[in-house]
Amino acid sequence: MTKQDDERETIGLTRRQFLGAAAVAVASATLPGAIAAAADTPAAGALALPPLPYPANALEPIISANTIGFHYGKHHKGYVDNVVKLTAGTEFASQPLEKILTATAGVADKAAIFNNSSQAWNHAFYWNSLRPKGGGAPPDALKKAIDASFGSLDACKTELSAAATSQFGSGWAWLVKAGDKLKVVKTSNADNPLTQGMHPLLTLDVWEHAYYLDYQNRRADYVAAILADLVNWDFAAANLAKS
Ligand code: MN
Repeated sequence: MTKQDDERETIGLTRRQFLGAAAVAVASATLPGAIAAAADTPAAGALALPPLPYPANALEPIISANTIGFHYGKHHKGYVDNVVKLTAGTEFASQPLEKILTATAGVADKAAIFNNSSQAWNHAFYWNSLRPKGGGAPPDALKKAIDASFGSLDACKTELSAAATSQFGSGWAWLVKAGDKLKVVKTSNADNPLTQGMHPLLTLDVWEHAYYLDYQNRRADYVAAILADLVNWDFAAANLAKS
């Protein structure tokens, strides 16, 4: 298994899915060119822009293809491109993002590498935290863990919503496994719970670029819609199983 295969497996994707999603993205005339370019990106080790796990319009009407076009095609791609540039010729050049971000967290002269590698990791994780026709009931093992830690699924969603809406400025809300329990945490800017020894299960991007084209200032509406209809509990359950 190559490093790239390993990275793709980490976020639950195969090359076939990548090509399928990219082909659909290319077929849509409304998308910025950067998504189409992703289909032509050669295998470049762990630091390639990973494929979007669904067509760019698959999350509509909750998240528009326009938002995905900028968010994936410009913002996410930008973080990946920056990591490639910033790590070229360094010890981090061929390392998986998880290793780069944990090695550079809190290191003052590596802040740019940390910010971009962590954002690249966070975005790949975010795309997989969503899915068309998501929401509903988590798989049994995850439901049991949620009930044990929060009391109920509704209580867990209430905590996720509170974290996502109360994060001041840019950041992320996460469902994580910390020790033997599940917890909701929030992080600022590029920060990631991996750097604190926690295992991320699911994340919500609450940077304005994630929702402003569709919701303007109504972050709470974006969060509520995701938790109702897009959240990918299967992805969280798979992360819990390997944590
Ligand atoms: Mn984002």
